[in-house]
Amino acid sequence: MIRYQISSRNPSSHYFDVSLRVDNPDPDGQRLRLPNWIPGSYMIRDFSRNLLDLRARSQAGELDIEQIDKSNWRVGASSGELTVEYKVYAKDLSVRAAHLDHTHGYYNGSSVFVEVMGQGDQPCEVLIERPDAVFCVNWQLATSLKRKQAEVYGFGLYEALDYDDLIDHPVEMGAFTRIAFEACGVPHDIILTGRFECDQARLAADLKTICEHHIRFFGEPAPMDYYQFQVMVVGEGYGGLEHRASTSLIASRASLPKPGQTGVDDDYRDFLGLCSHEYFHTWNVKRIKPAVYQPYDLQQEVYTDLLWAFEGITSYYDDLGLLRSGLIEMDSYLELLAQTMTRVQRGPGRSRQSAAESSFNAWTKFYKQDENAANAIVSYYAKGCLIAACIDLKMRELTDGQQNLDTVMRRLWQTCLQQGKGVEPDSIQQLVSEITGVDLGSFLQELIYGTSELPLPELLASVGVEVVQRVAKNSQDKGGKDVEADLPAADFGATLKDGETGLLVQRVVEAGAAQSGGLSAGDQIIALDGLRLNQAQLESKILRAKPGDVWQVHAFRRDELHQFEITLQAAAVTTFVLKATDQQQAARKDWLGC
Ligand SMILES: [Zn+2]
Repeated sequence: MIRYQISSRNPSSHYFDVSLRVDNPDPDGQRLRLPNWIPGSYMIRDFSRNLLDLRARSQAGELDIEQIDKSNWRVGASSGELTVEYKVYAKDLSVRAAHLDHTHGYYNGSSVFVEVMGQGDQPCEVLIERPDAVFCVNWQLATSLKRKQAEVYGFGLYEALDYDDLIDHPVEMGAFTRIAFEACGVPHDIILTGRFECDQARLAADLKTICEHHIRFFGEPAPMDYYQFQVMVVGEGYGGLEHRASTSLIASRASLPKPGQTGVDDDYRDFLGLCSHEYFHTWNVKRIKPAVYQPYDLQQEVYTDLLWAFEGITSYYDDLGLLRSGLIEMDSYLELLAQTMTRVQRGPGRSRQSAAESSFNAWTKFYKQDENAANAIVSYYAKGCLIAACIDLKMRELTDGQQNLDTVMRRLWQTCLQQGKGVEPDSIQQLVSEITGVDLGSFLQELIYGTSELPLPELLASVGVEVVQRVAKNSQDKGGKDVEADLPAADFGATLKDGETGLLVQRVVEAGAAQSGGLSAGDQIIALDGLRLNQAQLESKILRAKPGDVWQVHAFRRDELHQFEITLQAAAVTTFVLKATDQQQAARKDWLGC
């Protein structure tokens, strides 16, 4: 048993005070280590950079500590009980690390608890103490960790099966709002932190709907006996991280349903989609997981081709779940799918990087995107979602609607339950061929490892959905909707935003007009054809322009003024709209559930 304790003597300093007691330390010198990354977020984050004042002692007194590398230490040899103490600086308001101030406290175990090497499989208990400040007297505590000696939502003693379990239940503390509901008999809580207005009854009802949908999708009983949505509400923000019995989310105030609000606006649809996504991960990636994650090596990058499946298939079912459970309408779902198609199509990187390569290089490319990302890479989320749609629709077409991707996911879940084995790079391909009785090897190989255009127009036609392509109306146009207004014929080939002294070039499209004329990301355009202009003025100028028109551009690069001649190109037809037709209605109903 490893006994951890976490408190804060001064929450305004953003320090958590952490200690642990090891009854039987390695007599040759106990090694300790802290993870360098957190499962679900594939980037080396070096949590140890926030660890300070590390000390160790035995009954005989203070012990030396040798630092082996950035996240590994060895405590001097001792006999009997070992106590280790340190502080963790917690000022990362994200779902991946830790945050502490007078408004709330939050941490992931992976950034605050060192692992006692050689004893990672030992049960742990953690005494979570109320931070020591007058503004913390009303604070409560929310976590999916098992209570050992603590009131419900109270500070006190919690327990974990082992180190892996300890770091997979983030903890929120503060004066939060708690909303309870049950899904298929399993108690769920929504914990809302921050300043917001929310129709709590509606939020609970809608999340119950989506949770029950996913539980029934994989089959009852649910794999957890309690679940918690931890939501940090901010002005602007979006993101989530999945855990075995909870999820931590960051959401914008505007995305919560307001009292009196009816219908599902785009912001609330995004929030429901995020909740649906993280909840689906309770099965897909938290339990059904790549074999190389069994166990996780949290010291270094762990490479897999499979993030397209774990993030992409999850992205496919997150929105599809909203539709199939009745939270959104078919047109709304087709709009979301068309937006994903548009996102992929607008990036030249799709013809350069496959979904498998995108997965493999998540650590250095997807998670470290720069201004050239759209030219260089494809998202394993977005392309993975479209691959999932292709597999699903192809299976339906080949088996006359008898088989589909749902069967694949249920089979993966059954295999995981019965054998506990991880997913290998070819497991999904084998299952798809086995379930359909057709060798789909080369079809799947091209989807996953290739870069050719996806066969979605044909496959969607087989379920009575027509794919319409058009040019983008303006920089706000995400696709998915018909537009009445005139569309531009020409394209400038750059993503711009209003800056202090003009238009800031954020990205240029490879071989597009801006790049061909010499403009580069980071340039500040101060005049176009001799006039200063903002984004809205540029968009109305483009509406009147033709391919081949030449614009004189003055722009600063660093502190140097440069002049460029930009020859406009024809606007690219990379925006999709999906329309249900009156064909194949039975197949479509079978797919979408409505
Ligand atoms: Zn995800």
